[in-house]
Amino acid sequence: MSKYGFTTTTLHSDRAKPIEHGAVHKPVHNSAAFCFTDAHDLVKVFQGEQPGFVYGRQGTPTSAALEEKISRMEQGILTIGFSSGMAAISATLFSLLRAGDHLVASSFLFGNTTSLFESFGRMGIEVTFVDATEAANVEAALRPKTRMVFVETIANPCTQVADLAGIGTLCQARGIVYIVDNTITSPVLFLPKNVGASLVVNSLTKYIGGHGNALGGAVTDTGLFDWSRYPNILDLYRKGDAKTWGIVQIRKKGLRDAGATLSPEAAHHLAIGSETLALRMQRTCSNAQQLAEFLAAHPKVKRVYYPGLTNHPQHDRAKKLFCGNSGILSFELKDGIDCFDVLGKLEIVISSTNLGDNRTLAIPVAPTIYFELGAERRASLGIGESLIRISTGIEDPEDLLADFATALGD
Ligand code: PLP
Repeated sequence: MSKYGFTTTTLHSDRAKPIEHGAVHKPVHNSAAFCFTDAHDLVKVFQGEQPGFVYGRQGTPTSAALEEKISRMEQGILTIGFSSGMAAISATLFSLLRAGDHLVASSFLFGNTTSLFESFGRMGIEVTFVDATEAANVEAALRPKTRMVFVETIANPCTQVADLAGIGTLCQARGIVYIVDNTITSPVLFLPKNVGASLVVNSLTKYIGGHGNALGGAVTDTGLFDWSRYPNILDLYRKGDAKTWGIVQIRKKGLRDAGATLSPEAAHHLAIGSETLALRMQRTCSNAQQLAEFLAAHPKVKRVYYPGLTNHPQHDRAKKLFCGNSGILSFELKDGIDCFDVLGKLEIVISSTNLGDNRTLAIPVAPTIYFELGAERRASLGIGESLIRISTGIEDPEDLLADFATALGD
């Protein structure tokens, strides 16, 4: 663990190894392949006997520098970067699960993650979705072939907070791989390692990058899981420290073979963005809190979902676990008020599907990100047809509140 604080550690992580020509940032290495003056060295890198780079699909010095930053942020042992958050999730499951295995997942997940898990279901991996706000629901779903439990920290769009500590204790007692998607909280607000997570996923596209200018994803091994107990590690990778077997298999099977590589350009953008993560997160959380309180008190608003509000069902849990409640909040307008009318009147706030940008973004949930599910499934997940999801940015709070006041006709 670094002796420095979060931002100091992130800012100076590149310099832990010498940087070419004394550059302050790790430069962008846009080379598809890497050459060796002695072919013996090429062989050694291929065989894992010597560190180095051989081919860009498997990693570059630029992505490695970002991976190092993420490992430090998550206090993990190793990180692998991918072309997107979804690529990180699919590669992790693809590498570590086999037909006949069972996965328990939260019912409150990012829609594309749920859709991905359903695809795994069609390929012989059984998936059970449970309300993960109670560890008892996860426990009740466990089977002898349950290999993994997958949850998010604060769910998007209705902001349910999973029983992260309870599930961690359960997974540790049963020797089950516990994967936490930390995208919404980011390692500034929450360290999944502290609740026993084995692997942490982050969409770097969101808060870590922060500027909405690059896609990326990462999976970090916290070092807590003993992979010698995991039956799906191939004999090929059962060598060296057993703590690294899982992440090595993800790098080989999930990154090298599946090939959803993080480009050096994107890695560089994300690394620069990550330098201000802690600073941006403070403003993002404070803007979200102010906006949630404003909307909750507004006569045209029916309901607001935000863990920072005292009437949120997991408010106390969020307070205990997180250093802030992040920037995702959703609200429903009173019946008869057209959400498109309100969205159309917002001047600063942008209608967009992304989240975690410096700019505040809004999206009508039902006809966009939850459209494929259909009305019945949306209702079962508690997603109202007029629900609007907001991702607060770092604008001046008075401008943001004034924009909503105008749009709501104040
Ligand atoms: N995980 C969560 C919680 C997300 O909200 C998202 C995207 O919104 C993803 C993963 C996927 O990330 P990406 O868009 O980088 O693939």
